[in-house]
Amino acid sequence: MKFTNSPMQEVSLNNRKIFIKRDDLLDINFSGNKARKFYYFYKNDFKNVKKLISYGSAQANSLYSMSVLAKLRNWDLDFYVKHISSYLKENPQGNYKASLENAANIIEKDVEDLNDYISKNLLQKDVLYIQEGGRVFEASFGIKILAQEIKDWQIKNNINDMIVCLPSGTGTTALFLQKYLDCEVITCSCVGKDDYLKKQFFMLESDENNHPLILKSTKNYHFGKLYLEFYEMYKKLKKETKIEFDLLYDPLGFITLINSKYFESDKTIVYIHQGGLLGNQSMIERYERKINFKK
Ligand SMILES: *Cc1c(COP(=O)(O)O)cnc(C)c1O
Repeated sequence: MKFTNSPMQEVSLNNRKIFIKRDDLLDINFSGNKARKFYYFYKNDFKNVKKLISYGSAQANSLYSMSVLAKLRNWDLDFYVKHISSYLKENPQGNYKASLENAANIIEKDVEDLNDYISKNLLQKDVLYIQEGGRVFEASFGIKILAQEIKDWQIKNNINDMIVCLPSGTGTTALFLQKYLDCEVITCSCVGKDDYLKKQFFMLESDENNHPLILKSTKNYHFGKLYLEFYEMYKKLKKETKIEFDLLYDPLGFITLINSKYFESDKTIVYIHQGGLLGNQSMIERYERKINFKK
């Protein structure tokens, strides 16, 4: 199991040199940043725990990573979701399917606030509760190691003027990176609007000075929907960098980065590849269907 020490790779994009921190090459089951975020729960002893509880979307990368974690640690996993589409139930695929194969109990519960529901009703002594997407302080344990790897690389290569860029879901990875790095961390909000991401930051860190900078996107994108410019960016990245990126977060990450003043500047850019490739297959199929339909 590889949870730390990913390589740094130099690539060229739009004729500009950038560095990619290849966290996608960490343990495949933990999908890049989930390896960092769940390292604490893998490494430490939880003597009395018998069950892991969490919630989120039925297709989330974190669901699959938690199903692997639970299996490794011999815990049950109860994963609550507000809604599972009938299509997915009839055609299990991606993270959902792989998690069921890992014996995850995926439980549909239509309540307004799942965090509130779980906190009030389900927590017992033998239960370990991890909030949606691993938005917990314990995530800082692994992300601190990521920050240290970047710092070591920086010193070794004599890099002074650096920025670190990564797209956000809950913002947990970006927030703790900003906390442990001395340079500026820039991100964009993929899951909700910018004020949602700001709120997420405040849940983990009350001092706004320690928050990453949120790059504005030119358009209001909805998470999980298909945008042809996302697919174009995915293919462009693959062609120019020879690296496969994910289709939910990275296209927006690169669109906002390329459109920002930082991309024009002389700063050394380090982009964190956070994995998430398990979901690509079904996304590519959806994009190809959409494109063929238009022809
Ligand atoms: C989970 C995930 C993210 C979001 O990470 P946060 O710490 O929640 O911001 C981004 N990219 C990929 C590929 C992920 O799996």
